[in-house]
Amino acid sequence: MIELKNIEKRFGDHLVLKDVSVTIAEGTVTALIGPSGGGKSTLLRCINLLEIPTSGTVRIGDDVLQFHPGGKVATSDIQRLRRQTGMVFQNFQLFPHRTAIENIMEGLITVQKWPVPKARERALALLEKVGLAAKADAWPSTLSGGQQQRVAIARALAPSPKVLLCDEPTSALDPELAEEVVEVLAQLAKEGTTMVMATHDLRLASNIANEVMFLEAGVVVEAGPASAIFGNPRRERTKRFIATLRQEQAATSAG
Ligand code: ADP
Ligand code: MG
Repeated sequence: MIELKNIEKRFGDHLVLKDVSVTIAEGTVTALIGPSGGGKSTLLRCINLLEIPTSGTVRIGDDVLQFHPGGKVATSDIQRLRRQTGMVFQNFQLFPHRTAIENIMEGLITVQKWPVPKARERALALLEKVGLAAKADAWPSTLSGGQQQRVAIARALAPSPKVLLCDEPTSALDPELAEEVVEVLAQLAKEGTTMVMATHDLRLASNIANEVMFLEAGVVVEAGPASAIFGNPRRERTKRFIATLRQEQAATSAG
């Protein structure tokens, strides 16, 4: 189980997350939706502690860290928690001077201290999972955006994290390339991978996610099962936002 309790995040005077609490059950997919600047990326980054919450509690499994304004948290505690997460970014962020398989092996060898043959075996299995075994030795620059993102997903999964965090994983991709990434994420969801993803993509938010959280100006406006949020939103604001998402999606499919 992953739990965020009363998370606040401040950048200077700017309160970017306001008392955000959420519980994420194992094996579920949670979509973070909401307008740009609403705090989705910051919230994801507070789960893996790429951003340190100003206050609140982050729990991943048995590991719990509490944050207080001005308080200090040991780097080793931060690293221990972060290692239980994997992150997929909008712009892939593969190492350009490493092949696809080397990108996946890198963390296993340097962080997890796995022997090279074992890391290679794990990386190959993951490339197979994302349908790219044939591209093991390809350089990222020779891969399409969709293929690069699938390698990035494999890399994030390599150390078997408790949760896969995805920040707009399809936003940088043309619709057909986005589709292959959606398919990989759908398969992972079916296999019970716990995921939290910030997304504007309705295929991810309404078809793949079990739970949806609508975040605006750092506040959780509405949260609940995807079917309820998309089928019968209670808040007027949520209704309007979902209508814009649907319009965007229709425009993309038409173009
Ligand atoms: P979203 O992902 O929903 O678009 P973000 O989490 O990126 O929203 O941003 C939320 C707010 O926090 C924005 O106003 C943004 O400008 C601000 N912000 C994000 N990161 C930083 C940072 N490192 N320093 C200062 N402000 C930031
Ligand atoms: Mg963002």
